[in-house]
Amino acid sequence: MPNLYYSLSERIFKKIDENRDQIAKLVSQLVQIPSITGQEGDAQEFIKEKLTEMGLKVETFEPNVNELKDHPSFFETASYKKFGYSKRPNVIGIWEEGNSGKTLILNGHIDVVPSGPKEEWRYDPWGGEISNGKIYGRGSGDMKGGIVAMIYAVKAIQELEIPINGKVLVESTIEEEDGGIGGALATLLRGYTGNFSINPEPSGLDFYVASAGVLYFKIRVKGRPAHAKEAHKGVNAIDKIWLIYKALKELNEERQRRIVFPPAEECEPDVKGHVTTLNIGMISGGDWPSTVPAWAEIMCRIGWPPGESIREIESQILDRLKEVSRRDPWLRENPPEYCTIGWRAEPSMVNTSDPFVSKLSDLAFKVTGRRPRFCGGTAGLDTRFFINDFNIPSVGYGPIAHNIHGINEFVELDSVIQVAKVIALAIVELLTE
Ligand SMILES: [Zn+2]
Repeated sequence: MPNLYYSLSERIFKKIDENRDQIAKLVSQLVQIPSITGQEGDAQEFIKEKLTEMGLKVETFEPNVNELKDHPSFFETASYKKFGYSKRPNVIGIWEEGNSGKTLILNGHIDVVPSGPKEEWRYDPWGGEISNGKIYGRGSGDMKGGIVAMIYAVKAIQELEIPINGKVLVESTIEEEDGGIGGALATLLRGYTGNFSINPEPSGLDFYVASAGVLYFKIRVKGRPAHAKEAHKGVNAIDKIWLIYKALKELNEERQRRIVFPPAEECEPDVKGHVTTLNIGMISGGDWPSTVPAWAEIMCRIGWPPGESIREIESQILDRLKEVSRRDPWLRENPPEYCTIGWRAEPSMVNTSDPFVSKLSDLAFKVTGRRPRFCGGTAGLDTRFFINDFNIPSVGYGPIAHNIHGINEFVELDSVIQVAKVIALAIVELLTE
C-alpha cells in the first residue's frame, strides 16, 4: 500500500504529473479545432464527448436571446448578429456527490480570436505543436490550456477516488471574446450558479481579481453636401467629426492622468498611466472626392478599471459632446448622435478579503511556492457576471501564456500542470468540509 506514504495532496500532484502527456495532447487537440467566436460548435462537441467519457452528467444548451434580453447586462454581441446562437451550445459537465449543497464552478471560454496573418507565424496557428514544454497555436493560452487544466483537475480527483461532498460544474462557454452574453451570462441565467468560481484565464499564475469596464460607442455627425467647386456652400462633416475627435482625445488624456488602479499597475508596470484608454478605433465619412461630406462617424472603445459605472462614463462623453456643440454653430443646430454598439460591460472586482480568495491563494502557494499577486482590471472578463450579477466570488487563475491574440501564441505546459493541481486541491478543500 505505497499510497499510505503519500499525503492526499502529494497523491493528487503525482496523479496530475502522470497525466502530463495527456494534458499536453488535449490542449493540442483543442487548438486543432479552430473555435473562432461564432463558430464554437465543433469544439463544444469535442468537449461534450470528453466530459461524457469522464462519467459526468453533461448538459448543453444554445442560448435563447428572449431569455437574455431583459437582463441589465445584456447587449447584442457582434457574433450573435452575424451567426445567431444556433449550433453554438454551452457545455456543462456536472459532478455531484453528497449533500453539502456547495457548488464550485469551473468556467472557461472555448472561443478564440482569429489567427491574424498566418505567414507571420513560426508554427501553424491551428497545429497545436508541442515543443520544449510549450504548446503553440491560437487559443493555446487563451484559454484552452486553462480548460484542460480544469478537466484534468477533476479527472485526478476521480481517478484517485477521493470522495467529494458537493457539486462541481465544469463549464465550457461561448463568445467570451465578444462579451460572454450568450456564454457565461446565459449559463448563469439558466440556473448553473454556485458558491465559488474559478476561471482559468491565462493570468500567469497570478489572480485576476478585477475585470475592466468596456463600452463600444459610435458618434455620427451630419454635414451639408455640396459640389466641391462650391464647397463654401456646404458643411464638411469630416471637419466636424475632427472637433469631436480632438475633444475625446483630451478627455482620454485627462482620464489617464487622473485614474490609477494599483492591481493592474503592480502586475504590469508599463500599464501605468494607461489603466483606462479611450481608443478611437474607426473613422469614416463622405461619399465622393468631389462632394462635401454629408456625414462622418467614429467608433470607439473605452476601457476602464473598477471605480466608475457605465452611466458615469457615458455622462463624461456626452458632456464633451455638448461642450463641442456649444462652441460650434453647426453642431449646435445639428447635434452629434451618440449610440452604443456591442460591448457594454460594467467593471467588477472580487472582494479580495473573501475567505475563498485567501484559501485559493494558500493552495496556489502550496503548489507553486509563490503567492499570486492581485492583478487585472484592464480587460473585460466573464468573471464580472459571477461577481456583479450573481454575487459569486470569482477569481481568474490560469497558466502562463505568451502572445495571446498575437503571433506565435503559446502556453507553458508546466504552468497548465500547476493550475490543474491548484484547482484539484480547491475541489478537495472546498467540497469535502
Ligand atoms: Zn480569454
